[in-house]
Formats: sequence, structure tokens, C-alpha cells
Amino acid sequence: MLLKNIFKSQPQDEWKPVIEQFERVVGKDGVVRRKEELLTYESDGLACYRQRPALVVLPRTTEQVAELVKICHQNDLPWIARGAGTGLSGGALPIEEGVLIVTARMNRILDTDVENRQIVVQPGVINNWVTQAVSGAGFYYAPDPSSQIICSIGGNIAENSGGVHCLKYGVTTNHVMSLRLVTPDGSIVDVGGEVPEMPGYDLTGLFVGSEGTLGIATEVTLSILKVPENICVVLADFTSIEAAGAAVTDIIGAGIIPAGMEMMDNLSINAVEDVAGMGYYPRDASAILLVELDGLEVEVATNKQRVIEICNKHGSRNITTANDPQTRAKFWKGRKAAFAAAGHLSPDYFIQDGVIPRTQLAKVLTEIEALSEKFGYRVANVFHAGDGNLHPLILYDNSVEGQLEEVEALGREILKLCVEAGGSISGEHGIGADKNCFMPDMYSEADLETMQYVRQAFNPKGLANPGKMFPTPRTCGEAANAQNLAQSTEADLY
Ligand SMILES: Cc1cc2nc3c(=O)[nH]c(=O)nc-3n(C[C@H](O)[C@H](O)[C@H](O)COP(=O)(O)OP(=O)(O)OC[C@H]3O[C@@H](n4cnc5c(N)ncnc54)[C@H](O)[C@@H]3O)c2cc1C
Repeated sequence: MLLKNIFKSQPQDEWKPVIEQFERVVGKDGVVRRKEELLTYESDGLACYRQRPALVVLPRTTEQVAELVKICHQNDLPWIARGAGTGLSGGALPIEEGVLIVTARMNRILDTDVENRQIVVQPGVINNWVTQAVSGAGFYYAPDPSSQIICSIGGNIAENSGGVHCLKYGVTTNHVMSLRLVTPDGSIVDVGGEVPEMPGYDLTGLFVGSEGTLGIATEVTLSILKVPENICVVLADFTSIEAAGAAVTDIIGAGIIPAGMEMMDNLSINAVEDVAGMGYYPRDASAILLVELDGLEVEVATNKQRVIEICNKHGSRNITTANDPQTRAKFWKGRKAAFAAAGHLSPDYFIQDGVIPRTQLAKVLTEIEALSEKFGYRVANVFHAGDGNLHPLILYDNSVEGQLEEVEALGREILKLCVEAGGSISGEHGIGADKNCFMPDMYSEADLETMQYVRQAFNPKGLANPGKMFPTPRTCGEAANAQNLAQSTEADLY
């Protein structure tokens, strides 16, 4: 069955019945249809790809989402969930004929249960609000993407987002207890439960990281953690990336699991210092490491000493430590602002997100440097060093014809390096529209086919976020044709 594509192929007044149905569910002010207003939604954080959607709808409740999705299902309309639109893989990139279901109005904290260490939120709640809601009681929500002051919990669920504190405490999936979902036929389904490890299939785990292709999360129960007794951040500089990489390997090898361990290279250090001007990061360093240690006071003190010894062994010239919350926040401020600061280095930048085994850090970074020279584009490196999650920022100018294509080719070469090193094409930003053509670099035909069976069980018409995550002939040409796409629905191919 081909999608009816009513917005593209039919005259405007024939859309009216559908728009009226949407308006009956969310009111007139819950449907955005004017072209200039739709511009807001034409891209996510990967702003080099843009497409205006046909319509945007703004529900407030699970029941409204279910009604909207049913209307899409009955009319064969493709739809895409969108949270805050900060995704970096084009996951919420609209399609011309599609409806965007935006969760911005689903922004209520529904229940806080500190005794059971749980909080129930709507998907449009901003990540940082969760910690703010429970910090008075001495708790926090561990997954903390650098975008935490703007990204939504629904987007975090869909991307299985990570962050600075995910090295020790795990990524989003490790903190989701249960979900209320609307499946692509408009059914309301509950998965997971109040206790961990529920019997039966782990549908919560399946949904987390599914990038909006299996349905839309409308209520989320998250687990929260007690703030540790003691926290210390060590800031150390290095005269080579290799030395910083070796320090990372030795810290983990010594049995220390820092709450977070982040690295920035010289280009990123200077961008951050130019923009934030904190004076904390030595401008002449080849790399800096930020190591956060937490736990009981005695444990933190012991580990701090060990980390300092290891950094000294690898030639660190300056080591500063911070225990008080204000200085710790200042140390982290630069790292958290690193992506934004890259905007100071060039008109545009293309962020890649790959994973490598920690021990390969120095080798892969040297190869990235060689690729940067070969392609003629500067690459700034910021990464979650503790878990080998690289974020090369390729600097370019999108107004110069042809540069985006060259930068995309460089990005793909970098991801190939990651796979060859035994890593992955995504650590936390997801596949989306950006990397769906690269899935065959990592997965066999049988692997991808199995994933398609899962997607079809939830999304048989292919209406939920079509064209994302998996290669299709439409988006990937030969790359997709090389795969057996017998399991794809025709909806993907339109
Ligand atoms: C400056 C900056 C720093 C960042 N740092 C990090 C980082 O440290 N770690 C990290 O992991 N990411 C990071 N990101 C990426 C991004 O913030 C995360 O992927 C985030 O989870 C996206 O949330 P969002 O609300 O913006 O989702 P969107 O961009 O709106 O959507 C992302 C995906 O989620 C789907 N989706 C949205 N809501 C729902 C829902 N309720 N149900 C089902 N699917 C849904 C969409 O269809 C889409 O596929 C960063 C981004 C920026 C701009």
C-alpha cells in the first residue's frame, strides 16, 4: 500500500476534513498550518538538513496523542514525534507530506515519589527540570546530555541519550522504569513497571532508542538517584592527545570508574576560552581531561590521589581540583558549551558521533587528523573519553557550494574508522536521517532484517517516522539496494 500523500497530491480544500478532525482534538490553537510558523519546525539540531512539514499538532495529553495518531492511521498520513528539536541526527526532520506531533505542551511533572526514587513526567518535560524537581530532597536524575537545559525527556528516550555522568551511572535506558506509549495505530499501551526486571519481553528497553519509529512516549517513569556524599572534579592538561588518551586508559585500568571523564582538544579548548573566557582551560594544552569522582568522602579522596598520580605520570603540567559546587560548575561550563563555542570557529559545523574502544583513542584521533588534512577541513574534538564516545566537529561553510557534501564524506570516513576500530556509528545521537545509509557498514543483512521485523510488529504501515534509522532506496540509493529490503513496507519507499 502506498501512502496516500494527501497533502501533496490533493488540492488544499480536500485537506480540510483532516485539519478539522485535528482541531476537534487539540483546538484551533493546537494546529499550526501557516507556512511562516511551520519554519520553526523545519529542522532539528542538525540544521544543514531542512524540510517544512505539512502540519504541526500540539497535544497536551496521552488521549489527545492517541486521537491524533488514529486520525493519521485512518488517513494513511505519515507522522513524526518531536520533542525540543535538539537532536543531532535529523531524527525529527519532517517530511514534506507529514504531520509533526510536537510534545512541547506535554510539559507537566505528574508525580514525584522520592521514597521509591521515582518520578513520572510527560515527554515534553525538559531534562534538567527533573533534577530541579527532586534536588531539594537530595536527589538527581543522572543522564545529563550537554543539551540538558533544552532537550526533552521524550527525545532522550527516543535517542537513548547519554551525557557526562553516563560513564558510571549508565545512559537513559538504565533509568527508565516504565512508559505509557501510543502505538502507530493509536492504541495506548503501558510497558515496564514499578519494579525493575519485569517478566516477559523487555519492551521498555526495546522502545528506548527506537527513535520514534515504534510509537510515541506520552508518560515516562524515571528512576532518580541520591546525590553522592562527596564530589570532586580534577582538571588536568596534557602536551599530547596520546598522553591524555593513555591517562584515560590507566585511570579505568586502575579500577576507578569516574562519574564522568571528558576530553577536549586544543581547538575546542580555545573555542571555549574565546567564548566563555573562564581562564580555566590552558590555551596551549594539546588536550585537557575533566575527571569527576564521586562517592563517600574517603573513596573520593583516595581516587583523587590516584588520578593525580596517573595524570602526572603522563606528563600533565597543570592539575587543578574543585570540590565546591560553584567551581565544579565552572569547570564543566566550558565542556557543556563546547558545541555552541564551535560556532565561533566557523560559520557551520557538522557533528559526528562515533564510539571506539577506549584503548584506541590515540590511534583513531591521529587517523582523524590525517583525514582532516586530506579533506582540507579542520576538525575539533570533544568527547566522552571514559566510554570512547567521540564527537568530531567538522568545521565548514554551508554557503560555499559543495562543502556540505565534502564534509558529509569526511564524516562517513570518520565513522568507518570507528567501526574498523571495533566501535560503532553512534554513541548517543542516534541514526535518524543522517546515518541511516551507514547501517550496512555495521550490520549484516540478517541483522537489519530482524530489526525490520520488530519495527513492523509495532508500525506495520510504516507511518511513524518513515525513512529514519534504516537505509531505503529513496534515501540511500545503491547502499540500500544492496540490502534485502523485502521486509520494508512500501510506505518507506514512496
Ligand atoms: C548543544 C547540544 C549538545 C548535545 N549534547 C548531547 C549529549 O551530551 N548527549 C546526547 O545524548 N545528546 C546530546 N545532544 C543531542 C540531543 O540533545 C539529544 O539527542 C536529545 O535527546 C534530543 O531531545 P529532543 O527533545 O530535542 O528530541 P528531538 O530532536 O525533538 O527528537 C529526537 C528524536 O526523538 C523522537 N521523539 C521525540 N519525542 C518523542 C516521544 N515522546 N516519543 C517517541 N519519540 C520521540 C523524534 O521523532 C526524533 O527521532 C546535544 C544536542 C545539542 C544541540
